[in-house]
This record gives sequence, C-alpha cells and structure tokens, in this order.
Amino acid sequence: MAIDTTTDLQQTVEDAAAHLYVWSLKDIPQDLRDALRNAMETETHKVGKRILETINTNVSVADERQNLVCQDTGLAVYYVRLGELFPLHPARIEQALREGTRRATLEHPLRSNTVHTLTRVPTGDNTGHKIPHIHWEFVPDWDGLDVKCIPKGSGSENMSFLKMLVPADGVSAIKRFVLDSIVGAGGKPCPPGIVGVGIGGSADLAMHLAKEAIARPVDDVNPDPDVAALERELFELLNETGIGPMGLGGDTTVLSVHVEQAHTHITLNPVAVNYQCWAARRASAHIFSDGTVDYDREA
Ligand code: SF4
Repeated sequence: MAIDTTTDLQQTVEDAAAHLYVWSLKDIPQDLRDALRNAMETETHKVGKRILETINTNVSVADERQNLVCQDTGLAVYYVRLGELFPLHPARIEQALREGTRRATLEHPLRSNTVHTLTRVPTGDNTGHKIPHIHWEFVPDWDGLDVKCIPKGSGSENMSFLKMLVPADGVSAIKRFVLDSIVGAGGKPCPPGIVGVGIGGSADLAMHLAKEAIARPVDDVNPDPDVAALERELFELLNETGIGPMGLGGDTTVLSVHVEQAHTHITLNPVAVNYQCWAARRASAHIFSDGTVDYDREA
C-alpha cells in the first residue's frame, strides 16, 4: 500500500487528536460513571459518602454546562495502536498528535500546564520536548489506527512509585510495596481512582506497564488468571485501608486495581505503581485508512 505523503490523512489524525483532548476532559466514560455512582451508593462512611456525592454532582454539572470535569487539563498522553498497513508514517502521526494537542489548547482554549523542567518557562500550548507523550503499539496485517487520549493530572501522577524488589521476596513484596505506596499517597492523588501496577521487565518497562494499566476501563480484568487474582486481592486490601474518598476516610479508596506484567530477568523483581485519579479521563478514535473516523468514549 502506498504511503500517503499528502496531508489529508495527517489532517484527519490531527483533527481527531484535537477533538479527543477536549472531549476526554469533558465527557468521562460510562464505566467510570457507573463506578463512581456505585461507590456513592455503597459508601458507609458519612464524609466519604458526601465527597462521592460532590464528585457525582461535579460530573453532572460538567455534562449540563459542557464543561471540564476538572480544571487540571493534565499532560496530554496518547496510546496509539498502529496497523502496519495504515498509509501514514508514524513520524507524521506524531506530528499530527502534537499539532492537534496544540490546536485544542489554543482554540478551546484549555489551561496549558507544560513547562521546561529546569527553567519552568511555560510553552503555552500543552506541547513541549517529547510532550505529548505517545505510547506506540504496532499491529501486523492491519490497516487501521486507534488513538486513545488520556490527559494525566499532576495530583495523581505525582503519586508514582518504582522499586526494584529482591526476587526472593516474591509476590508478597510486590503487594507490600503497592500497599505502602497507596497508604503513603493518602488523599494526594484525588482518590478513589484506578491504581495501575506494572510488574516485571526492567525499571522503565515496569513503569510503562503501570501506565498502560491505568488506561484500561474500570471493570477490565487481566486475561491472565494469576494476574487477575492479584488485581482482586490488591483491590480488596486497598479498600480495607480506610483512606477513602479524597483521603478523608471511607470504604472506597480505589475503584479498581489493574496489573500488567512482563517477563523479567531471573535476578530482577521490578514493581511500579501509577495512580489515576477519580477523573480517570479517556477517549478514543478508530481511524480507518480511507480517512473515516469513529469516536469511541468507552474503549
Ligand atoms: S489529580 Fe485528577 S482530580 Fe485531582 S486535580 Fe488533578 S486531574 Fe483533577
């Protein structure tokens, strides 16, 4: 298949990115809405229940006024699944995602958060060196492109943790580290949210996996039964901590725990934790090689 060097398909991807960034900030997915409502209905702690009522009201007000669910527009992060037969080069897709982010920020307009890490000088458009951050997955024998936008708020991103554990300490050390991390984080990551845990690989891969874990829908379960059992156990343990909504006490500390794993070196046992706040925003576009776009709030 010929590679499209014209700008048509690139423009389509750019328009999709601009739409996804704004849309994800305003219209949270149904699985998250259901989880927040269910938490509000089952929470037994008085203050925790009140916080969850406020969160659910916040979501309704955002719907009514077509406004953002949270003022923190985050760092723009895209998860891209690119078919090998999709007729636009990854370099052009990267340009399109960057330009779409920039346009959405300036045209909506959205709050820009991006600064130079040393000088703290803002860029003004939510782009910068290596930002937006793009996760790539390449799919053989396919001519499509899936783009998922996950704006990542700083309150939850600041509560990210990585440790290279002793392999002989096994899975119990992994559980202890996750528990210690979330208890230590308390109310800072705006709970209740999704806890992403990455295990295995190398240090960077473990954190990458933790980030992939938070991108999954709330009710998604890892297909590996051993990993799914760990997800369930961590979910129950974390909700027994009593940290509760916004760290003010309650039964609901997390809505979900997702674990992603990779094989690792025999002398390694890496674990990474990444928190996604209650405003676990995400929105996707499925882009076909003819330029058609299907928007998908639930993927
Ligand atoms: S961590 Fe999430 S809920 Fe808290 S301020 Fe940031 S985006 Fe908003």
